[in-house]
Amino acid sequence: MKKILTLFVGILLIYLVYCLQKPYVYSSVDPISEINPLILVNSENAFPDNINLNLISFDNYQVADTIYNDLVEMYNAALNDNITLKINNAYRSKNEQAQIFKNKMKTYQNEGYPKEKAYEKTKLTVQVPGYSEHETGLAIDFSNEGHYDENEKMWKWLKNNAHKYGFILRYPDDKYEITKIDYEPWHYRYVGKKAAKEITYKNLTLEEYLGGNV
Ligand SMILES: [Zn+2]
Repeated sequence: MKKILTLFVGILLIYLVYCLQKPYVYSSVDPISEINPLILVNSENAFPDNINLNLISFDNYQVADTIYNDLVEMYNAALNDNITLKINNAYRSKNEQAQIFKNKMKTYQNEGYPKEKAYEKTKLTVQVPGYSEHETGLAIDFSNEGHYDENEKMWKWLKNNAHKYGFILRYPDDKYEITKIDYEPWHYRYVGKKAAKEITYKNLTLEEYLGGNV
């Protein structure tokens, strides 16, 4: 009897250690957001205010529940390859986007740029409030500030694997003419697995994919 008890306690301890080692214990969710993963939000297409978005926490950031299960799958797959996907931005409200835009513009104005020029320069790296993909809850910035090597590894992994889980590199380095956003190796956008694979294999942007230039 004592032996069985010892064995039982032993197994329980091993299980507890195993649970503690796992960085997150996720369970899958049934999404209730009413958002089309193929929604186009860019400098010409605002994110409509009337979309019902259900946000859910992941690694202290909020994302649309639509992407949650695939994000967890991707996170775990990266972990298996010894890559920890670090998030540094996910969902942002329109107000938060406005604040970011304002701050960046102010920086340029403080550097001596006139208001109009500062606005144009800000637009190159920050989307105008209402026009940021981060407002959809479908976009994530993966980055660990100040960790150059770690970021390079993370971005390389994402470039090779993210499409398997429904995510695309949204602003590739050779597509500025189409996206109007400079290369952002950290910014990934959820579009669903089928579209992500096609977009990645054919080296397209979301604009091109939706425009039928396939
Ligand atoms: Zn971003």
